[in-house]
Amino acid sequence: MKKNKVIIFSAPSGAGKSTLVKHLMKEFPNLGFSISATSRKPRGKEQHGREYYFLSPQEFVKKIENNEFVEYEEVYTNLHYGTLKSEVERIWAEGKIAIFDIDVKGGINLKKLYGNNALSIFIMPPSIEVLKERLLLRGTETPKSMELRLAKAAQEIKHSNQFDTTLINDNLEQCLLKAEEIVRKFNNQ
Ligand code: ADP
Ligand code: 5GP
Repeated sequence: MKKNKVIIFSAPSGAGKSTLVKHLMKEFPNLGFSISATSRKPRGKEQHGREYYFLSPQEFVKKIENNEFVEYEEVYTNLHYGTLKSEVERIWAEGKIAIFDIDVKGGINLKKLYGNNALSIFIMPPSIEVLKERLLLRGTETPKSMELRLAKAAQEIKHSNQFDTTLINDNLEQCLLKAEEIVRKFNNQ
């Protein structure tokens, strides 16, 4: 019987998860991105139903009450993010592997849930200083949200040993190639 598999990408904000996941989605047509729900507001060119399902705090709570999440977290104070059961089911029904861009706590929880059918990858920034530079260059954070993300990053890095693999995202090209190699291997298992 075909296994329902998942690939989990976790990392501190700014370490390069979205960049890696977008690249892998182009390289591997059998990956389906799990669009999370969030109560944060869209930033930049983000679209509802593409990067996230953007919900009001009330809508998010309703989905918690209706037991619609595989997992959810208050990733930042008053900002919730969660993986919808319907997303994972949709992707598996298409015969694809679900790929998640999810915070570290959520990543550890999903690995526990899916066990050997999951490949969990931690993306490590070369240093907190480099992480700060990347977030500054991305230009999406306020000074306050930057401070929160950097404080959280230092904590998250301590949990990297709970992932199947850690990839250091220093040179982007090399990191993309390594990620491809790991995914190709998991694909063939
Ligand atoms: P995350 O999804 O983990 O928050 P992003 O993928 O948005 O991180 O990356 C954060 C910023 O850093 C983006 O502007 C991205 O283009 C840039 N970036 C990603 N990887 C590298 C790298 N290896 N070297 C330099 N800049 C990078
Ligand atoms: P951002 O606001 O930068 O898009 O995301 C903030 C953090 O929330 C990132 O670490 C991202 O991976 C995480 N995140 C996104 N979706 C989910 C989800 O469904 N569940 C959990 N636990 N975290 C998520």
